[in-house]
Amino acid sequence: MHAPAQLDLFDTAPLAPPKPKRARRTHPSVPDAPAASVPTALLRAADWILLNSSGGKDSQAMASLVCRLAVKLGLLHRVVIVHADLGDIEWEGTRKLAEEQARRLGVRFEVVKAEGGDLLARTVARFVKLKAKAETQARERGVDPTAMKVAPAWPSSSARWCTSDLKRGPVRTLMTRLVAELGDLGRPVRILNCMGQRAAESAPRARLAAVEIDRPASNGKRHVTTWRPIHGWTDVEVWKEIARSGLPYHEAYDWGMSRLSCSFCVLGCEADVVLAARLRPKKAAEYIAVENQVGTDFKHGLSMRNIVERAAALDAEHGELRRPPRGTAMARYVGKKTTREYLARADRDRLGLAV
Ligand code: SF4
Repeated sequence: MHAPAQLDLFDTAPLAPPKPKRARRTHPSVPDAPAASVPTALLRAADWILLNSSGGKDSQAMASLVCRLAVKLGLLHRVVIVHADLGDIEWEGTRKLAEEQARRLGVRFEVVKAEGGDLLARTVARFVKLKAKAETQARERGVDPTAMKVAPAWPSSSARWCTSDLKRGPVRTLMTRLVAELGDLGRPVRILNCMGQRAAESAPRARLAAVEIDRPASNGKRHVTTWRPIHGWTDVEVWKEIARSGLPYHEAYDWGMSRLSCSFCVLGCEADVVLAARLRPKKAAEYIAVENQVGTDFKHGLSMRNIVERAAALDAEHGELRRPPRGTAMARYVGKKTTREYLARADRDRLGLAV
C-alpha cells in the first residue's frame, strides 16, 4: 500500500546541517590485514573457529568443509556452530536442522537471538521512530507534520538493519562469551568467524573478500577474522559437498526455494517470495498487515499484496502445491544416482539414531 500524497521534506527549505558522525575507533592492537589466507594457517591460528549457520545450503556446505579440515588438523574441539534464531519469520524447523547438523558434525552448537521482537515487530517500531523524527523536523521547519514523508521502515539493500540487528549483533554477544571462557591468555583471543557467503549469489557478495579482519567486531580482547571458505564455489560444488557430507538439508529447497533464512526476504527474488506466499499464506498476511501499518511496500517496488495475488493466481492455475519428492533440489545439481545414495545414507543415519 502506498502512503497518501506527501510533502517531501528533503527538497524544500534547508535543514540544519547533520551532526558529524564520530569516527569509530578500533583498538590499536587490531591488525589491518589478516596474518594468513591459507585455510590450514587460518585454522591453526584461531582460538575459536565460529561457523555461522542459517541452516541453509551454503552454511551447511561451509560447515562440513571446515569441520573436515578441522578434523584433519585435530582442531574440532575449537569449532562452534552458531545459529541466529529469527523466530517465526524463518522456515519451520530451521533451528532444529542447524542443531542436527552440528550434532552430526560432532561440534558444539549455540543459538543466539536478538532481544526486542522479530523482523515484523522491529519494522513497526522503526516506523514509529522514523515518523516521530520526521514530525519533529517538520515542526522545526514550520511545516505541517501530518503531511510529511517518512523514510521506509522495511530493511532493504541500502538499509540492511535486519542482518545487523538479528544476526550480526547477537553473534557478537556469543563472541564475548567465548572470549570470557578462555580467561586471560595474555593476548587478545583470536576468533575465526566463518561465513557461507558466495560470490555467485550476487554482485555485492562477489565484491567481498575471502579473508578479512572484522574491525568493528574486534577490540582489545578479541581479534576477529572473517573467512568465507566457499566464496568461490558454484551451486554444483555446494550440492556436491552436501551429498558427500550426508548432512540433512532443509526441505524448502525441494519445494523450489533458492535460499533459506527468512521465508520472505526483502532481498529475495520474486519467484522465491511468491513461492513462500503459496507455502506460508498466514505469514504473508502478517506482512500485508505491517505494510498497511507502515505505509510502504515490503520489497522495493513489490508489495506483499501483489506477491499474494500472484501466489493466488498460480494456485488457481495449477492447484495447491504438492510436496515434491525428497532430493528434488539436490538431484538437479548432482544427478539422480548421487541423490539416491545420499538419501539412502541419510535414512540409514536416521534409523541408527532412532535405535
Ligand atoms: S534473510 Fe533477508 S530479510 Fe532476513 S535477515 Fe537476511 S537479508 Fe534480512
